[in-house]
Amino acid sequence: MPQSVRSLQAALPSVDRILGLPDVRRLIDRHGRTLVTETARTVLAALRADLGTTGGGASPDIGDDTIAANMEAQIAALLTPPLAPVFNLTGTVLHTNLGRAPLPEEALEAMAAVARGASNLEYDVKAGKRGDRDSHLEDWIRRLTGAEAATVVNNNAAAVLLLLNSLALRKEVPVSRGELIEIGGAFRIPDIMARAGAKLVEVGTTNRTHPHDFQNALGPRTALLMKVHTSNYEVQGFTAAVAERDLAALAHDAELPLAVDLGSGTLVDLRPYGLPHEPTVAETLQAGADLVTFSGDKLLGGPQAGIIAGRADLIARIKRNPMKRALRVDKMTIAALGAVLQLYATPEKLAERLPALRLLSRAEADIRAAAERLLPAVTERVGERATVAVIACQSQIGSGALPVDALPSAALAIRPTTKKAGAAVKRLAAAFRALPVPVIGRIADNALVFDLRCLDDEPAFAAQLDRLQLG
Ligand SMILES: *Cc1c(COP(=O)(O)O)cnc(C)c1O
Repeated sequence: MPQSVRSLQAALPSVDRILGLPDVRRLIDRHGRTLVTETARTVLAALRADLGTTGGGASPDIGDDTIAANMEAQIAALLTPPLAPVFNLTGTVLHTNLGRAPLPEEALEAMAAVARGASNLEYDVKAGKRGDRDSHLEDWIRRLTGAEAATVVNNNAAAVLLLLNSLALRKEVPVSRGELIEIGGAFRIPDIMARAGAKLVEVGTTNRTHPHDFQNALGPRTALLMKVHTSNYEVQGFTAAVAERDLAALAHDAELPLAVDLGSGTLVDLRPYGLPHEPTVAETLQAGADLVTFSGDKLLGGPQAGIIAGRADLIARIKRNPMKRALRVDKMTIAALGAVLQLYATPEKLAERLPALRLLSRAEADIRAAAERLLPAVTERVGERATVAVIACQSQIGSGALPVDALPSAALAIRPTTKKAGAAVKRLAAAFRALPVPVIGRIADNALVFDLRCLDDEPAFAAQLDRLQLG
């Protein structure tokens, strides 16, 4: 090691001296000695390493002010919340990777209220004795679906797992080959079935399954029949599936229950809100399903949860399974879901009050107007580097609901003017993701596309544009 480096390294201040600096003392007041001492050590070690690699030639700034500022920046970075908001301008409304349904104010308030202290989670206040955590939601689910009973678990995957493990352990469950779906990478019907301890009996073919296929699959070891909503794809062309009503009749003739995994499962007919029809939980139960499973944070517009609704005797068996305890929801989920279900009591105002439905039913003209409003600011900000235009586009509902139906929408398309547009558009997308509230769009045809359907806070989006770091 050259002498100059060694002397520079020796000139680095000691941890003790750093901790005595006025700026650093203020850091200690705010964050405590443990964290600040640890940070001082890391910052000094980094400087020492820098001096070693630069050979002392570049002689980095080792002044007190720089060290204190480095420490403050490091602590700030460490203490930014690991989970934080982003702008979802992908065009997929219920985006699983971006947290699915946005919650209404009522749900946020209900969550905060119970999170702060004690609540009646499992306590019957009137009777003054132990209660059941499902009781807060069961009446509402019954009212909104017509089910006899209901229980709520961590998510729909858990609902399916628990249902199968409770009712079909070491028994057979026939499912149509056209419904052996994979959702979002990790949820696959055959795998869930195996982990639940049930034996999957594949029925029919990929494109066509008939009632007699199910009939032939029934045997002494059959526990129940199951139908799965194909969610994220559609079988088109020469196809046949057995309708719920027919499958229910077949199951009931054999004295077996029919379970339907609806996936998204909406509680209301979506057509009055200008959306395509999606089977409701009530319709599915009316068609003869004995149990229906669905997600809380898809079309329902609530927090992550899985709901099992249906026959009281079957729900009772499911609730007795010790696995229920491992899959149960916490008080904040119950508070949020309760508040969301209550909004359904007033369907006339649902599209205003439930953010998921408000975004899904937002008029194309309204979205286009937002795009026109933001066009000048974005155009000015990107300058010569790119052209910006308002374009028509299609939003997706997401989370497997109505996969082939798209919602007409409008977007800002930012197209780099350079020759190497592919690399330039990736850099542009990275710059928007590096903003304080990251902006997530999608890249299509060498343009960065921001579908504005889910942009609620236009001023916040515009306000951070001047922090965009364009290389
Ligand atoms: C989304 C979905 C699931 C998984 O639901 P999560 O709430 O994400 O666990 C299961 N089945 C179907 C049919 C789905 O669409």
